[in-house]
Amino acid sequence: MKSYNFSHVAPQTLGEVVALLNDHPGEAKIISGGQSLMPVLNFRLAKPDLLVDLRNINDLNIITCSNHETSLGARVRWVDIEKSTELAFHQPLLQKALSYVAHYQIRNRGTIGGSLANCDPAAELPLIALVLEAQIKVINSKGYRYINIADFFLGFMSTSLSKGEVIVELILPNFPSHRKWGFEEFSRRKGDFAIAACAVWFDLSPLGKMENAHIGVIGADDYPIRLTGLENTLNNKAFTSELLDEAIASSLNHLSPPVDPQISQAYRLSLITTMIKRAFANSMSKN
Ligand SMILES: Cc1cc2nc3c(=O)[nH]c(=O)nc-3n(C[C@H](O)[C@H](O)[C@H](O)COP(=O)(O)OP(=O)(O)OC[C@H]3O[C@@H](n4cnc5c(N)ncnc54)[C@H](O)[C@@H]3O)c2cc1C
Repeated sequence: MKSYNFSHVAPQTLGEVVALLNDHPGEAKIISGGQSLMPVLNFRLAKPDLLVDLRNINDLNIITCSNHETSLGARVRWVDIEKSTELAFHQPLLQKALSYVAHYQIRNRGTIGGSLANCDPAAELPLIALVLEAQIKVINSKGYRYINIADFFLGFMSTSLSKGEVIVELILPNFPSHRKWGFEEFSRRKGDFAIAACAVWFDLSPLGKMENAHIGVIGADDYPIRLTGLENTLNNKAFTSELLDEAIASSLNHLSPPVDPQISQAYRLSLITTMIKRAFANSMSKN
């Protein structure tokens, strides 16, 4: 199918983008990489009159790593992340997880702003933003505001972005080099959306006990979630696979993953459990 007719503009500044969205409420839509939006338009699931293209806003393409944090402009693409040596050093978990996103052609165009706004429950970036306790910088007609990632997900493909707001940056705290981390994902074929995935990081105390554990999963709900019960059970304990087995058994019984015709709840739960175990095994194998 082909999309309905629409007009297309590519402004030079964020101010113009915000003004256009405000002047055409309900009729205008941002387009960034187009990898999620164009299929939606072609299936006629949305029919905006105007596409406001971010391609000329060069400030949105920038990756900045300071001593403490990393800022990714909303137009940073998956390939930019994959190739960045700075991110390999400061954001290894992000780089690893995003290597699972789609195929080269899509990775060459898809952007972080589009992924966050789209908020697909199976997408890798929202999970990583959640476990890293990211902040999202957005602009609207009144100026900039920051959204804590914990307040961002509202439901299935639904976020706390207001109408007319534009994602400008994703801000992530940097990883110290000694931090333990792991990422594991299960999908039917390489490049497919995840059926289940787990991202984990923690620090080890001088006595070898886990501290500050952060564990997030895809597949357990309509958006990525953190397993805070499991985190609390593991914190201040020395890691063993027996401890992890027991903690999973006692902490995950409240999960009720979504069911679809091809994936039962029991299968998805079993995959989530396996991904958590593999992510921890992965993290313990790192110096
Ligand atoms: C075959 C296929 C497989 C894929 N597999 C995966 C996968 O495994 N993992 C994964 O994570 N993704 C996957 N994707 C999705 C892909 O990563 C998309 O690129 C991404 O989700 C959206 O980014 P985009 O830049 O293309 O956004 P667009 O398609 O341009 O926009 C998506 C939505 O976000 C809005 N938007 C875009 N930018 C902004 C902004 N700055 N501020 C506010 N709103 C904005 C748009 O209005 C639109 O509603 C796949 C896509 C395809 C087609």
